[in-house]
Amino acid sequence: MAILAPDSTTTIPFSSNGHQDTLLELNPFLIAQRQLAEAVEILELDDATHEMLRWPMREFKFVFPVKMDDGSTRVFHGYRVQYNDARGPAKGGLRFHVQETLDTVRALAAWMTWKTAVVDIPLGGGKGGVTCNPKELSRSELERLSRGYIRRVADFIGPHNDVPAPDVYTNPQIMAWMLDEYEAISRQHLPGVITGKPIALGGSQGRADATARGGILTLREAARTLGMELQGATTAIQGYGNAGAFGHKLGAELLGLKVVAASDSRGGIYNPHGLDHDALGQWKQRTGSVVHFPGAEAVSNEELLELDVTVLMPAALESVITGHNAARVQAKIIAELANGPTTPEADHILHDKGAYVIPDFLCNAGGVTVSYFEQVQNAYNLYWTAAEVHKLLEAKMVTAYHSVREMAERMTVHNRLAAYLVSVDRVAAVMKLRGWV
Ligand code: GLU
Repeated sequence: MAILAPDSTTTIPFSSNGHQDTLLELNPFLIAQRQLAEAVEILELDDATHEMLRWPMREFKFVFPVKMDDGSTRVFHGYRVQYNDARGPAKGGLRFHVQETLDTVRALAAWMTWKTAVVDIPLGGGKGGVTCNPKELSRSELERLSRGYIRRVADFIGPHNDVPAPDVYTNPQIMAWMLDEYEAISRQHLPGVITGKPIALGGSQGRADATARGGILTLREAARTLGMELQGATTAIQGYGNAGAFGHKLGAELLGLKVVAASDSRGGIYNPHGLDHDALGQWKQRTGSVVHFPGAEAVSNEELLELDVTVLMPAALESVITGHNAARVQAKIIAELANGPTTPEADHILHDKGAYVIPDFLCNAGGVTVSYFEQVQNAYNLYWTAAEVHKLLEAKMVTAYHSVREMAERMTVHNRLAAYLVSVDRVAAVMKLRGWV
């Protein structure tokens, strides 16, 4: 049985059947360590390399006060984990979420390390966040929270050591406040400290839909590999944030997917005749959720995962496809726009039943790839067109997909393990060159 991290602050999620194994199965950092161990064994890496890759190189955990609109002060818990910077500055998003824990951030930071390696960009992996419910905060409270977070981490981040970006419940406006706070502290313009900025503040064309666009490109390549036609293919999308909503739009526009189901934290909807992206987007904008969308019937998030569709896109949070429901997942292709949606138990079940998984840190690497382009543009102070960004992103995603596909074929392993083999080998090689191991 896996051992909990020594200073774990994980709040183990409630499990319906209450088994301890189930609880451990759902700790994302233990999952990340298990996935790594499988790759390390096949690559025959030495113990020191494995130990370096099993843990974050540095992690920051802090509390900070925020003045609330009613005059009271609330204290929030914040995190920034620099998992590995052998290949370049730590890179990864900031999440504002009620369930944010140090172990979640560690797992997400580890996955960023493998993500930047699989698309072969000169960056390492990091992640951060604040335990909070952003939906309960006013705009000015959110601004003070964002600035307060940066005041705690300003000494440790920077264009050449650690570069945050948006993640779940953070967005370009939050990046703008954070950039402004960092530049106020540094007393100079340093747009490369953070990515996913508004375009007017040094953001990149094509960054907003980059995660979904990259995922759709890997889906296109997967369909070619499998000899499948995706025009009109039924699709279910779990999660309707940035990745899910743009996954719907670009999936329909670029591949002709027919999205029949979508969900968010409040529930899901299903219409066998297909859901229109623009109409659903407007509905969500107006009502705050996809639920009760006219003409669609209600489904739960759990039911959505088990629908009889060709493509399933988990685009929300970790550990939604587990040992308990994987056998009932019917999709032929699972394009993981979320980070860590599938547990190792589920991976084996899906593999055995012949489902084709495009693993998270490959499928959703488009976001960080365009973040890297954003940094390059910031460094040159020269900005590219959307067409240029799309072309460079496509080249990166197609190359990464085929490096994973080739590895999977050569080693006869499933795609996630193949992606680990590609990435871990790259990070380990650079640690060796540096003389760390
Ligand atoms: N949060 C995104 C991810 O998980 C983007 C990270 C970035 O752009 O640095 O990949």
